[in-house]
Amino acid sequence: MTCPWCGSNEVERAAPFGPQLMVEQYFCRRCGSPFGRIRQRGAGGD
Ligand SMILES: [Zn+2]
Repeated sequence: MTCPWCGSNEVERAAPFGPQLMVEQYFCRRCGSPFGRIRQRGAGGD
């Protein structure tokens, strides 16, 4: 998992977004930018 803005892997998971939890919210500790990742159903669990 890397930041789409600066490419850093210093990211941490933030609170889930949306009632279906289809988007996971992450936060980059390096550049301070939040970003989301759409969960891929059936792509390996979690
Ligand atoms: Zn970043």
